[in-house]
This record gives sequence, structure tokens and C-alpha cells, in this order.
Amino acid sequence: MGKRYYCDYCDKSFADNPVNRKNHLRGVIHNKMRKLHYDSFRDPGTILAEDETKLPCKRFYNTGSCDYGDGCRFSHMTEEKRQELLKQIEEENKLAERKTQEDMEQKQLTLDDWLAKKCKTVSSVKVEEVPQFSLPQALRNIPNIPPSLLPPKFEDFQNTDPVEWG
Ligand SMILES: [Zn+2]
Ligand SMILES: [Zn+2]
Repeated sequence: MGKRYYCDYCDKSFADNPVNRKNHLRGVIHNKMRKLHYDSFRDPGTILAEDETKLPCKRFYNTGSCDYGDGCRFSHMTEEKRQELLKQIEEENKLAERKTQEDMEQKQLTLDDWLAKKCKTVSSVKVEEVPQFSLPQALRNIPNIPPSLLPPKFEDFQNTDPVEWG
């Protein structure tokens, strides 16, 4: 059995050879399926705008269905579907607006503000606020622990010169 070509858009497979492939990829059905696939990623605004350029599908509105389905070149838009799309657009706009507002608030806090706030916190810090360090259980019974392993005390922080970075 030879290799088979599987087309994701059409959910169909056939013997893989250049002629079959070319015929399939040029086929009406394949191109309709491909368009449908990409259409499902379009935003509601684009769908509505494109729908307005289409004439209403007589078959769809007279009989309630049309064999071309979503691939029909005439409009199948219903009032219900239109309202749903409009609601989606409204929600997306609201979300975008909220995001812009948050971005603006973030920008207002400049680096200087942040540093000023930080410095203030450090100088006004109280003894109770400093975390208490204690020696881990495993080290408690070891004599002559090197100073670098000893837990720091509050005074140690008070008497250090701030290190200049960079
Ligand atoms: Zn296909
Ligand atoms: Zn139609």
C-alpha cells in the first residue's frame, strides 16, 4: 500500500502522488473548507463588516437552510447572530479599555517615585519589622561556627554602609 495524503481541512485522505495532490488542492471543496477554517479565527468586527457587503441568500431566508452553509457567498446573517457578534465586540472593547487604563496607571509610577518610596521604607523600618533569623537546628550543636554562618542581628543592619551597585 502506497503512502496516503491526509488533508486536515477536509478530513479526507487519498493516495499521495503529485497529480492527486494538485487536483485536491485546486478543488472547490478543499478551498471552501480551507476558507472556513481560517474564517473561524476572524474577529466579530470583520465578520460583520464582510457580511454587510453580501446580498441576502434567498434560499436561506426562504427555506431556512442552504446547502452552501457558511461557505455560501450570500449572507446567512440572522438577527440573533448579529446581536451575538455585537455583544462580543462590546466585550472586547471593554477589555481593551480596561487594559489601557491599567497601563497608564502603571506608567504614572516612575522609577524616581519607586526609589523614593523604597528609601523611605528602609529608613523608617522598626526593630519589630526585621525578620528574626535563627540558627538551623542542624547547626546548633556544632562548636565554633564560622561568622558567615551565624544569623545576623538587627544592629548588624544598622551599622552597614549601603553598597553602591553598578
Ligand atoms: Zn483538502
Ligand atoms: Zn446560502
